[in-house]
Amino acid sequence: MADAARRISAGVSRLAATGHEVRQVAYKAAPEWLTLSIVAAFTEWAEGEAATCQHRPTVAQPEPVFAAAWMPGLIVCAQCTDRLALPAGSVRDRTCDACGHICAGPAHADPIWAKTVVAGLLVYQIGVCRDCLPWRAS
Ligand SMILES: [Zn+2]
Ligand SMILES: [Zn+2]
Repeated sequence: MADAARRISAGVSRLAATGHEVRQVAYKAAPEWLTLSIVAAFTEWAEGEAATCQHRPTVAQPEPVFAAAWMPGLIVCAQCTDRLALPAGSVRDRTCDACGHICAGPAHADPIWAKTVVAGLLVYQIGVCRDCLPWRAS
């Protein structure tokens, strides 16, 4: 597990470098939509129904994997997180994963908040509007 922890840490550091806030949250503290989408992502992957990166991570050989709320059905390894990126500033990049609101942007006091939730070996990225933040900004 030390190796898995190291690789999660490396992947999370890369995300943090792109401006993602990364935070550990208590499972029970997460809103229902977030818990359900994480469980769905993990279940699809475990059952072999998710598309994966070329390295084909599987639960049979556990390693840290990455998914994004805006790309359901895709699981990638720590080397392939670029595959989850959206064009910066695009409509999809500004769409709240919880409610579907398209954020106008920071200039209009309506930024999209990029967040990362670590759930076991699954590192899950979300983009949400202010009203849908799963936890208070600190
Ligand atoms: Zn990969
Ligand atoms: Zn929202």
